[in-house]
Amino acid sequence: MALVVQKYGGTSVGDAERIRAVAEHVARTRQAGNEVVVVVSAMGKFTDDLIRLAGEISQTPPPRELDMLLTAGERISMALVSMALAQLNVESASFTGSQAGIITDTDHTRAKILEIHPDRIRAALDAGLVPVIAGFQGVSVEQNITTLGRGGSDVTAVAIASALNADVCEIYTDVTGVFSADPRVVTKARRLAKVSFDEMMEMAATGGRVLMLRSVEFARRHGVPLHVRSSFTWEPGTWIVEEDPTMEEAVVAAITDDTSEAKITVGGVPDRPGVAAQLFRELANQGINVDMIVQNTGTNGMTDISFTVAKTDLVAARDCCIEVKDQLGAAEVTSDDGIGRVSIIGAGMKSSPGVTALMFETLSNNGINIEMISTSSIRISCVVRAERVGDAVRFLHTAFGLDAA
Ligand code: ADP
Ligand code: ASP
Ligand code: MG
Repeated sequence: MALVVQKYGGTSVGDAERIRAVAEHVARTRQAGNEVVVVVSAMGKFTDDLIRLAGEISQTPPPRELDMLLTAGERISMALVSMALAQLNVESASFTGSQAGIITDTDHTRAKILEIHPDRIRAALDAGLVPVIAGFQGVSVEQNITTLGRGGSDVTAVAIASALNADVCEIYTDVTGVFSADPRVVTKARRLAKVSFDEMMEMAATGGRVLMLRSVEFARRHGVPLHVRSSFTWEPGTWIVEEDPTMEEAVVAAITDDTSEAKITVGGVPDRPGVAAQLFRELANQGINVDMIVQNTGTNGMTDISFTVAKTDLVAARDCCIEVKDQLGAAEVTSDDGIGRVSIIGAGMKSSPGVTALMFETLSNNGINIEMISTSSIRISCVVRAERVGDAVRFLHTAFGLDAA
């Protein structure tokens, strides 16, 4: 008998019919002799709707209250899934994140899990029930309700799987697995049977939103077997695995696109030690995550520093830069929210020369200008105009031989 954690994303529980289909699959999994724990997201785009509603009341909602509001979405789906299971005579009970023992830090809207005390979940399993847990939420060490960041139900599922020592954590979604590019952008994208943790982390960090980055990090650290699959076809999907040293690695396994970031440039700053340190310390103190950074070669003792941040942090980041501008001796602060990033990812890149050249040639041959570049040992990212990102992904997908026949 295996213990299976099944996480169902927003589309998978999008309406009553989908919820019934989920309950039937849970019942089938049980009939096959497994124990099942279910983790659910809010229905469809319900979280977006709640954020919009909050925005109609306040441009700066108190983070504690925003979290309280957003966790309502997952409460609705957990209760409905549990009711659908009851209809099939499968005994179950729903649990909020707090009831499931998910203890987080106090960082509202992006809380990190500190501990899990799954006693009630274990007791429910021992009593023969299917526990249905609200994803994306927990309770802080100060007893306030928190959320784990957008896409956070993936983290809940992996964390619960780890705490219960589950045999597998299945992430059910609206595509049949992890593809060589977002199948909504590249119609010729191919499903990958396996992806290494390293590659999946780079994908998740650069726009491949099929798995939230933190869930992949958590799964690797705690050795949780992850299987991404479809709640529409139920066919086997993609396994996220440790790299197999005996296998030849794909030079480029996947291409990602991301238009969720904006660029800030602090222009005309003195080219001396300590300037970048002070700028990024101030941003860090405001809790702003900085992604790509480029500093131009100095001329006449002056230079420019450009970096990218999430669009949702743009106003705060720009205000922060404007505040320290005079202390830094900078001339100006400008921002640009019309950028996008295209990345190529592949573990085999480490040992294959010419990958960078082919990427740059492909973009240039198609008239796509590169504005910023960053690399890791298994990834190359280029910032381009947002409206060219889709083209860039498709051209690169073809150039690196990834198109499905
Ligand atoms: P869920 O609500 O189930 O969590 P998400 O919308 O978070 O679903 O993630 C699934 C979506 O991720 C897909 O619909 C797909 O458009 C997108 N996606 C982006 N990149 C990829 C990729 N490389 N492979 C598969 N899906 C991807
Ligand atoms: N409902 C939350 C969101 O939309 C969490 C999730 O779906 O994983 O971000
Ligand atoms: Mg998701």
